[in-house]
Amino acid sequence: MTNFELYNPTNYVFGKGQITKLPDLIAKGKKILLAYGGGSIFKNGIYDQVKTALTGYEIVEFGGIEPNPRYETLMKAVQIIKDQNIDFILAVGGGSVIDGVKFISAAVKFEGEPKEILHKRLLIKDLSQVIPFGTVLTLPATGSEMNSGAVITINESQEKLSFGGSALFPQFSICDPTVIESLPKKQIQNGIVDAYTHVLEQYLTYPHDALLQDRIAESILQTLVEIGPSVVENPSDYKLASNYMWCATMALNGLIQKGVPSDWATHMIGHELTALYEIDHARTLAIIGPNLYRVMFETKKDKLAQYGERVFGITGNTIEDKAEKAIEKTVEFLHEMGMQTKLSENTSDNYTETADFIVKRFEERGWKALGEKQNITPEKVRAIVEMSY
Ligand code: NAP
Ligand code: FE
Repeated sequence: MTNFELYNPTNYVFGKGQITKLPDLIAKGKKILLAYGGGSIFKNGIYDQVKTALTGYEIVEFGGIEPNPRYETLMKAVQIIKDQNIDFILAVGGGSVIDGVKFISAAVKFEGEPKEILHKRLLIKDLSQVIPFGTVLTLPATGSEMNSGAVITINESQEKLSFGGSALFPQFSICDPTVIESLPKKQIQNGIVDAYTHVLEQYLTYPHDALLQDRIAESILQTLVEIGPSVVENPSDYKLASNYMWCATMALNGLIQKGVPSDWATHMIGHELTALYEIDHARTLAIIGPNLYRVMFETKKDKLAQYGERVFGITGNTIEDKAEKAIEKTVEFLHEMGMQTKLSENTSDNYTETADFIVKRFEERGWKALGEKQNITPEKVRAIVEMSY
């Protein structure tokens, strides 16, 4: 295990009816920007719950943050905050709204062109660099409600870029599992697969030397396999909903990442597929993940074998045999969760030059290699993407 610091200041407020606690969590007298997405919160009653809880606060509403939140839209909110002296942001939505609010929070105080935060991947570490914010989560998937990262799309240049820093943890996140009742099936499938891949990105990366991290990661994977298909069918079942929500947060709140290396190449390549073809985030991970494990088989086979044994109960005579079966079981689970694991099944655009495009872009950014061992070179990225066609 490597050295680590564990810092997570987010007050995680979990359970039924917790939205009523908003006045305990936001200081009296704050002027709030209430940020939301395309309007689902009006249909499922979450907006009404939030507004009722915030009676007495001065609120300015900002809607229209799109899935894969766009820089161009977020900059409009930055202007509103500056013009109207707003001093707190409440994100009500899924990962896109929460990520968008993290960017707004940092961009308001940024001196210079805020695009630089993304292009230079600046670390936002000082609380004086941000406007404080909290969240009401409406879609369990990203872990953004309890982490300090965000992914923003620049529409003009078709780029999807990540950034973050320790000043960008939400002050609090209200996580009420009943919000998933109104989620379309497709979004629950996405949520489960995003969370599942987050665990794999932090677990299929090191030998068997961080025993507790292994067991926590495996428990999250096992729980997601156990509940995934049923939560899609029965989103009103509170037991299923609450376990799904807690798993998604635990998958990316930093805990399983401590003391071990992480990969994130599946996400990095997947972001390009979303930027190019607007494929849902989780669906890009289902396309790329299994092929990345195939191409990086020599590096990852020991851990893949352990994953297969412990999560799926796989048996086999050799490490290779178990590792191969583990990849196949993963693909089966992805299919069960409604994913189509080929690029051709996810876009009608001409995708035959995707690998060239992505490799060129990574090289332009100066990325010589990705992955926990920095051995996913441009040639490997090309092989992974081509295998995904
Ligand atoms: P999302 O993009 O926030 O939301 C997807 C859709 O679900 C939206 O159309 C939204 O509608 C709808 N929705 C949300 N809650 C709903 C509810 N309770 N009922 C009905 N519809 C609802 O999805 P997401 O998967 O949470 O976020 C994906 C983004 O997060 C991607 O950009 C991805 O790259 C990023 N991400 C971030 C991290 C991180 O650590 N920060 C990690 C992984 C991925 P409305 O817009 O109308 O609300
Ligand atoms: Fe993700």
